[in-house]
Amino acid sequence: MSKQLAIVTGGSTGIGRHLVEALVKAGYAVAFNHLGAPAEADSLASALAAEGGTVMAAACDVGIKAEVDAFHDAVAQWHGAAPNLLVNNAGIQTWSPLLDLAEERWDAVIQTNLKGSFLNIQAAALRMKAAGGGAIVNIGSGCNKLAFPNLVDYTASRGGVEQLTKSAAVELGPFGIRVNCVAPGAIITERTLLEAPDFEGSWAPITPLRRAGRPDDVADVVLFFASPSARFVTGQTLWVDGGAFTRAPWPY
Ligand code: NDP
Repeated sequence: MSKQLAIVTGGSTGIGRHLVEALVKAGYAVAFNHLGAPAEADSLASALAAEGGTVMAAACDVGIKAEVDAFHDAVAQWHGAAPNLLVNNAGIQTWSPLLDLAEERWDAVIQTNLKGSFLNIQAAALRMKAAGGGAIVNIGSGCNKLAFPNLVDYTASRGGVEQLTKSAAVELGPFGIRVNCVAPGAIITERTLLEAPDFEGSWAPITPLRRAGRPDDVADVVLFFASPSARFVTGQTLWVDGGAFTRAPWPY
């Protein structure tokens, strides 16, 4: 296939869905996975194919190595070449005080957000190395650097993603593989609207750019990291948060 190949994890909803759409629009053949949304995944893939896009969707739990390896094998068979871009977007979180957090929720969040990113990096980078290079973008969060209230498992997983990005960049750089992180602030998605119905009204006043973020704010920066414009950039995190998490607490 002549189109460059992008793989997006968790592509059927929210930011991932917009990433899939933006990458197709940018000319990539896009393969994405989902956990439990076959109807949404199929309808997105069919809609984009009807507009001339080259898209593949498959079920795959990013936290299970056998499923991740089988997904990457299936993508390779479908496309025929190594991925040019991997975006680790799939993620979950649990709202709970640390003292009440159930062990199985801790395990699920770390397994999806941190181990899932590692497993997909490993599967994609083995093929990228053989092909001479590629780009990987991990989706992080403001809590790559700050502790969010009642999100201990999520915050820990994103701290891990911050360091995983750097380790992977250092080890994979010699193979021509760049690894960066896009850390979104408060982004309007179906999920975040359920968490806070007045999402815009809650976040705009505490965000220096005075609005909540949109999925296209995130997608544009992912496209930058994937592009030749970022050819000498690796191991970096770019905060796409309107400045919200740059603001220091200040006593006077
Ligand atoms: P969504 O819940 O809409 O998207 C999460 C996606 O991850 C879903 O498509 C889901 O698939 C997929 N997923 C979850 N678990 C797995 C798994 N084990 N294997 C494969 N896929 C899985 O959330 P958002 O779009 O809001 O968030 C997308 C990413 O951005 C997440 O990593 C999130 O933490 C991060 N982020 C979001 C922010 C925001 O304000 N929206 C802010 C900062 C970071 P399925 O639907 O099939 O279950």
